[in-house]
Amino acid sequence: MQSHVWHPYTQMKEWRDFEVIIKGKGMWLYNSKGDRFLDGVASMWCNVWGHSKNEIVRTMTMQAKKLQHSSLFNLTNDRAEELASSLVKLAPNMHKVFYSDDGSTAMEVSAKMALQYWYNKGEKKKTKFVTLENGYHGDTIGTMSLGYVPAFFSRYKPVLFSVTRIPSPNKYRVPIGFTFDEFQQHCLDKIEKVFSQNDNVAAFVMESGAQIAGGVTIYPDGFQRKISKICKRHGVLFILDEIATGFGRLGSMIEYQNQKSIPDIVSFGKMLTAGYLPLAATLASKKVYDAFLGQNQEMKHFFHGHTFTGNPMACATAITNLSLYKKYNIISKIKKSAAYLQRRIDEILELDLVGDVRHKGMLMGIEIVSDKDKKSPITPEKRMQQRIFNEAKKHKIYLRTLGNIVMLVPPLAISQKELEFLTDGTIDIIKKVTKKLK
Ligand SMILES: *Cc1c(COP(=O)(O)O)cnc(C)c1O
Repeated sequence: MQSHVWHPYTQMKEWRDFEVIIKGKGMWLYNSKGDRFLDGVASMWCNVWGHSKNEIVRTMTMQAKKLQHSSLFNLTNDRAEELASSLVKLAPNMHKVFYSDDGSTAMEVSAKMALQYWYNKGEKKKTKFVTLENGYHGDTIGTMSLGYVPAFFSRYKPVLFSVTRIPSPNKYRVPIGFTFDEFQQHCLDKIEKVFSQNDNVAAFVMESGAQIAGGVTIYPDGFQRKISKICKRHGVLFILDEIATGFGRLGSMIEYQNQKSIPDIVSFGKMLTAGYLPLAATLASKKVYDAFLGQNQEMKHFFHGHTFTGNPMACATAITNLSLYKKYNIISKIKKSAAYLQRRIDEILELDLVGDVRHKGMLMGIEIVSDKDKKSPITPEKRMQQRIFNEAKKHKIYLRTLGNIVMLVPPLAISQKELEFLTDGTIDIIKKVTKKLK
């Protein structure tokens, strides 16, 4: 049968015969033939409880019967209100919630909010963003500008806006001439210097806790907190992206709280609805929000909104999801699963061509290299992603690599037995694939 679907980030000439997934139950995805695959990437890092979770399905059904959608333009709805209250209670220093449909738009909202904050305050020169290298914030024009991954986005460069990028400390690849500690300090000094020498900086933007899409870099202790303090000292807005790392992925409910850092604006997405419906939220502090208040004719209000902003189906799903975090005490369960993953690291590091393993909470990145001593990357001709994917399929696992990094990002509620199946399988998959690569 001819397919008319164009897949994301996919060379359509090489990838054919996609598995057609028709059902999900628990941690498993089922194709039309009845084969099942363990969802090793939580359906792109967003699934929390596994598929078809009763409580969530019940909420979605009930909400669909009651109110499927009504707009937040001049109206509100009970679900959007309730979720916003819960989010503000969870997230320290946050006061208002702005809804959007996905992570990219949530980060667009963050950026526009920061720009208009300064505009409304009469500081019209403050229009520049400072970020970390290898950050990722989405695929729209604005978010590609903020989180510029060269391998992905070089072809769109002519239309991206310019951003000042500070190196991001990755323990595995410390530049020659530095210890890791020195290099961290070097990055912090650079931020300080950019802020001191430029009076046009609107905001500093970074992922909270770890950079994922840009190569699974977990920040060293204190790094995020120190940046938060530098921003505060220089009066620069501090914008965090917790789209992938909030709600338990790194083992904490609110990662910026765990990092002891205080943002002015923060975005959540991915696991907000447990992976059941598209929804994202940008939270703003009172300081930021207050700058948007005034007489109507002053035109200080925020010029942003989407058709589905505050969609009650999505908000109801998120409310039930958050209540399940409490009911099942998932954060303490994650600690056990994370400790299990931690215990398997040495074994994975010993594998041929595994250069580095980076792990925190329910996130593990296994970097495959062509030479362990030289840490040299594997070239695209080797088709690592295809090889890993195909071998994983034979092992009944759905795995996706990011470049040369094999990602384990399972649903948070994965059972011990399934986590073992995933880790054992991954070790075997890497052994088989790297044998052929050499
Ligand atoms: C996934 C992701 C985004 C973009 O979210 P989408 O829902 O894919 O648009 C932004 N930032 C981070 C850190 C992400 O992981």
